[in-house]
Amino acid sequence: MNPLFKNFTTEFNTAPFQSIKNEDFKPAILELIKQTKIEIDTIVCNSEPPTFKNTIEALEFSGQQLDRVTSIFFNLNSAETNDDLQKIAQEVSPILTEFGNDITLNEGLFKRVKHVYDNKNMFNLNTEQNTLLEKKYKSFTRNGAYLPDNKKQQLREIDKQLATLKLKFGENILAETNNFEMLITDEADLSGLPEGAIEAAKQLAESKNKEGWLITLDYPSYIPFMTYADNRALRKKLALAFGSKGFNNDTLDNQDNVLQIANLRFQRAQLLGYKTHAHFVLEERMAETPEKVTSFLNELLEKAKPAAEREFATLQNFAKKLDGIEQLEKWDSAYYSEKLKQKLFNLDDEKLKPYFQLEKVIDGAFQVANKLFGLQFKSIDTIDKYHEDVMTYQVLDDNNKLVSIFYADFFPRPGKRNGAWMTSFKPQYIKDGIEERPHVSIVCNFTKPTKSKPSLLTFNEVTTLFHEFGHALHGMLANTTYPSLSGTSVYWDFVELPSQVLENWCYEKEALELFAKHYKTNEVIPMELVEKIKESASFHEGMQTLRQISFGLLDMSWHGTNPTNIKDVKAHETEAFKNTRLYPEVKENCMSTAFAHIFQGGYSSGYYSYKWAEVLDADAFEYFKEQGIFNKTVASKFKDHVLSQGGTDNPMELYKRFRGQEPKPEALLKRAGLIK
Ligand SMILES: [Zn+2]
Repeated sequence: MNPLFKNFTTEFNTAPFQSIKNEDFKPAILELIKQTKIEIDTIVCNSEPPTFKNTIEALEFSGQQLDRVTSIFFNLNSAETNDDLQKIAQEVSPILTEFGNDITLNEGLFKRVKHVYDNKNMFNLNTEQNTLLEKKYKSFTRNGAYLPDNKKQQLREIDKQLATLKLKFGENILAETNNFEMLITDEADLSGLPEGAIEAAKQLAESKNKEGWLITLDYPSYIPFMTYADNRALRKKLALAFGSKGFNNDTLDNQDNVLQIANLRFQRAQLLGYKTHAHFVLEERMAETPEKVTSFLNELLEKAKPAAEREFATLQNFAKKLDGIEQLEKWDSAYYSEKLKQKLFNLDDEKLKPYFQLEKVIDGAFQVANKLFGLQFKSIDTIDKYHEDVMTYQVLDDNNKLVSIFYADFFPRPGKRNGAWMTSFKPQYIKDGIEERPHVSIVCNFTKPTKSKPSLLTFNEVTTLFHEFGHALHGMLANTTYPSLSGTSVYWDFVELPSQVLENWCYEKEALELFAKHYKTNEVIPMELVEKIKESASFHEGMQTLRQISFGLLDMSWHGTNPTNIKDVKAHETEAFKNTRLYPEVKENCMSTAFAHIFQGGYSSGYYSYKWAEVLDADAFEYFKEQGIFNKTVASKFKDHVLSQGGTDNPMELYKRFRGQEPKPEALLKRAGLIK
């Protein structure tokens, strides 16, 4: 009997990992798609006139078991995968995509949804219901539900072309990355590199049967070389290769792909009635319009530029004194920045790690959540885990009521992908008056304990843990009716607020005292180390900010205007960068032809969100700082108006209810040391 076919009968309704076999997934997904189709047909064929309840709500609660099974499946495929699961993923992914399209292209269903939408005043809806209606309606119209058949066909055609072009764009970059290698045969050319980087370069050469040391354009090889290698000519060679990916006028060139992608996105937006691609994307973002994004970026630019220019001048002087460098070039940037940083702070991970034992840091995160939101974390061992390393908790509120189940999975292993993320195995929602609590998980790749030492985290790993824990709190404290509006199901430029804001506690004495204790002596971390961490965190913040802004502006230059007249990719880019340039222009290089975030990944018209989220988190944390970082009133407001609300209302409204005003960039600029 396939355990995935039916609702689980486990304790807390948790996923029955131990009884699921790989081969259960595909038949379950196919069967549950069938069942969901029947649910959808029942909505469409209902002889009653469409209402919010019999159409929108019914659609929202259709396919729930399918959603649970697919979330378990894809979570496992990220955190504990194997060849079988990967093969199944390749088989079921297109089936699920097609099923999704079948729903948004279902004309009978759209007719009913539209009827409810057009007559919404009849149904006396609350804010959350209105938001759900808007979201469901848009999921049809933004995919062309209104278009006549020939234009629907055109839209499909554009989507197909875009998919192919994006794939090609990515393949070209990958090929460019793989085709380049720099073989070093003279040991003197390795001068400056750390032991680990030299060893890796040696191993790489050996693996390709070469004598010497091999440097490539992969980050683990490229970054240390650019940061530490004393040989300036080799740094230049490597930087030029890195910066000219997709820009070599050969079969792997991406210039034409960039122009085609930008133009097709523009055509798609116009077809759907939007001015530009950015107008289309930003309709479902907190920033709302390209005009707002551009003025947001330009406002930051104005504040960051003087600081960036000062930092650049200081760095230039430093390089001149140290090595007689007359003109600082792009390939000098990481190298001299690192040298200057070492001189100023002399802070390395090894000094800090003994104060950040994993168990103590987790407990610290739990204590912070307890002081802020009254949450208690109780370890439980009676529910199934998907791997023995996973830790499982029952999360209770201060009345001992169940808030969430929490899974934490910290160490790397072969079946886990890189990075750190938060996810859930079950969403929170209320159906037929019964409240379902969520099952939330965080997955990381932290340093493993050894026989002689516990797991000791770098400071970066500590902030990562708090970051993911912040997302987890957003999921755990969710208190909404509809699952698709619950927890982290919010606009993209709002989702990093809870995660980033929580990182701030890692820099505060009151919080560090709870958990930053030496693993042997239990001595609390010395405050001068904390001060150094803080100072070094805003090192070269002006230049970093300018860089992020320049990418955001480039993104908007491609997607926020009509691109029909752009013929020369490099000339267009040079114009977009004109207010943010610090280093001399490199004519051999082009950013756009390798800007995978916006031309391959999902960040088109969204690159600004990195800075946007920082503005939000700094502004929110300033409120905590004003009232005390463990102030219960501020914490309750944050919980009631932000964390528990998910995507039930416009995020700006939610934020204002918490903060009493719109977010202002001043707190970020102050934290970054860009203004006093
Ligand atoms: Zn995040």
